[in-house]
Amino acid sequence: MSGREFRVGEGWDVHRLVEGRRLLLGGLEIPFERGELGHSDGDVLLHALIDALLGAAALGDIGAHFPPSDARWKDADSLLLLARTVALVDAEGWRIVNADCTVVLERPRLRPHVEAIRARVAAALGLEVGRVSVKAKTAEGLGPIGSGEAVEARAVVLIDRVR
Ligand code: MG
Repeated sequence: MSGREFRVGEGWDVHRLVEGRRLLLGGLEIPFERGELGHSDGDVLLHALIDALLGAAALGDIGAHFPPSDARWKDADSLLLLARTVALVDAEGWRIVNADCTVVLERPRLRPHVEAIRARVAAALGLEVGRVSVKAKTAEGLGPIGSGEAVEARAVVLIDRVR
């Protein structure tokens, strides 16, 4: 194969929203009366990003690297899990080109927080903000996301072989 080698990866995650938990998106805590249930801190956006990165590099999935059966990841800071994933992808000779993410959440409205989330994600990926996109949508009242039972995130990343 001649020329540069690029790989694309996609990630998806969903978490239930329950009382007594924090709502974390991209490492940022969003004020709300409910938050993500999960073995780790439940940061749905970072989990989708981790799977997108692992998928791009064909390195398995988040459950294989950070299994819920492992007590080390109980209430783990997902920023730490992402940092380990970024280091792994880097060690395999890849550089992240960009990331495009979508969060689907009925309430609260995310628009006021999107720029702050974007900045957090960019910093966590070691990218300039212009290479990171975070989009916020609702589910128009449909299904478990629409009823506020859960939050969903999707992410797509591109990586470039540098060595
Ligand atoms: Mg998850």
